[in-house]
Amino acid sequence: MVIIKFLPYGKQDIGRNDIEDVVTILKSDFITQGPKIEEFEKKLAEYCGSKYAVTFNSGTSALHGAYFAFGLGNDDELITSPNTFVATSNAALYLNAYPMFSDVEKETGNLDVSKVKDRITDKTKLLVPVHYGGNPVDLKELSEIAEDNDVKIIEDAAHAISAKYNGEKIGNSRYSEMTIFSFHPVKHITTGEGGAVLTDNSDYYEKLLMFRSHGITKNNFHNQPHGDWYYEMHFLGYNYRMTDIQAALGLSQLKKLNKYVERRRKIAEIYKTAFENNSFFEIIHEKKCCSSSYHLFPILIKDEFKNKKREIFLKLREEGLGVQVHYIPVYLQPYYQKLGYKENLCPIAEEFYHKEISIPMYPTLNDEDIEYVISKIFKVFESF
Ligand SMILES: *Cc1c(COP(=O)(O)O)cnc(C)c1O
Repeated sequence: MVIIKFLPYGKQDIGRNDIEDVVTILKSDFITQGPKIEEFEKKLAEYCGSKYAVTFNSGTSALHGAYFAFGLGNDDELITSPNTFVATSNAALYLNAYPMFSDVEKETGNLDVSKVKDRITDKTKLLVPVHYGGNPVDLKELSEIAEDNDVKIIEDAAHAISAKYNGEKIGNSRYSEMTIFSFHPVKHITTGEGGAVLTDNSDYYEKLLMFRSHGITKNNFHNQPHGDWYYEMHFLGYNYRMTDIQAALGLSQLKKLNKYVERRRKIAEIYKTAFENNSFFEIIHEKKCCSSSYHLFPILIKDEFKNKKREIFLKLREEGLGVQVHYIPVYLQPYYQKLGYKENLCPIAEEFYHKEISIPMYPTLNDEDIEYVISKIFKVFESF
C-alpha cells in the first residue's frame, strides 16, 4: 500500500534563522565554552522567572547534575512517577540512590499526590514530579506533603517548558529546589541533544557549574593559586557541557517558544472538540490550576478496546500516523526487574500504559494534517 503521509508523534522545527545563527557560531572563535552558553542561560532563566539556568549536554545529565547538587547520595531514596522516561530514575541510580515509584492518577498519568505520603520513609530525600505530557502536577499540594515530611522537590519538566501552574511558568522553582528541561528534538525547543537546570539557589548554581566540568573551579581555591593558569578540581564531575553551537540553536529556538506552545494549544483545542465524548477513547483534561504546554497528546483507549491495542497501534501506523506509547512503567524494564522491583507496584500506571497512545502533536502540523489525523483515528477505531 502507498502511504501518502507520515506524521510522527513529535518533531522539531528548524528554520532559516536557526541555521544562520548556528553557522555564525561555526565561523566564530568559540564553538564551545564561548559566550553563547551564558547568553542562552540568561535568556532561559528570564523566560522561566528563575535566577539561574545551567545548561547541560542532555536532559539526563541535567537530572544527574540536579540530584548531585542537591546532595542525593548512597542509600538515599527519591520518589517519582513510573510513567516517565527511564532517565528520571536512572539519574538517581548513577548516585547509588534508590528510586521509589508512586502511582499515577488514571485521568492524567501524573503522580497521584494523595498517594505519595505512603511511599515516604526516613530515607526519602526528594520528590520528583514529572509534568506528564506538559500538564503540570499540583505543585502546591505536593509541596505541602514535602514540607510536612521534611523532604524537597526537584521537577522533571522535560515535557513542560512554558507550561503554567497558577499562572506562573514551570521552571521558576517556587515549589522546588531545581527544575530540569530537555532540548531533545521531540521536546518543545531543541539543541540537538541538550538540557538545563533552573534554580534560585546560588549554592546549587555553583555546584552545577562545577559538576558539568569535571568538578573544576577557577575561583574559590583551597590552596594558593600558582598563577593565572591555576584551577582546582574539588570533586569528581563529568564533561556534561553544552557547546556554543547548540546554545546558538537554543537561543534562536527560544525566541519561537511562545508561538510553538500557542500552536500546540490550538491543535489540542481542535483535537478536544473532535474527540469529545467519543465511544472509543478518553482524552486528558487540564485541571483548573494549570495550563499544559502539550508536549504530548495522549489518548486513553476505553476498556472494551484495551486488549486490541496492539492491532489498533499497528493500523494507526499503517494509516501514516507515527503514534507512540508513553510510557512502559519504568520498573517493568528488565534492568529494574533485576534490581528487584515487582510487577503491580503501581497498578494504575500499568493500566495507563495499556490504554495510552500518543498521537501527532507538534507545532508544524497544519490544519489539513490535523483533519487527516482525526479522520484516520476514527477510521481505525470504527473498524474494530
Ligand atoms: C526526554 C526526557 C528526559 C531526558 O532528556 P534527554 O535530553 O533525552 O536526556 C528526562 N525526563 C523525561 C520525562 C523526558 O521526557
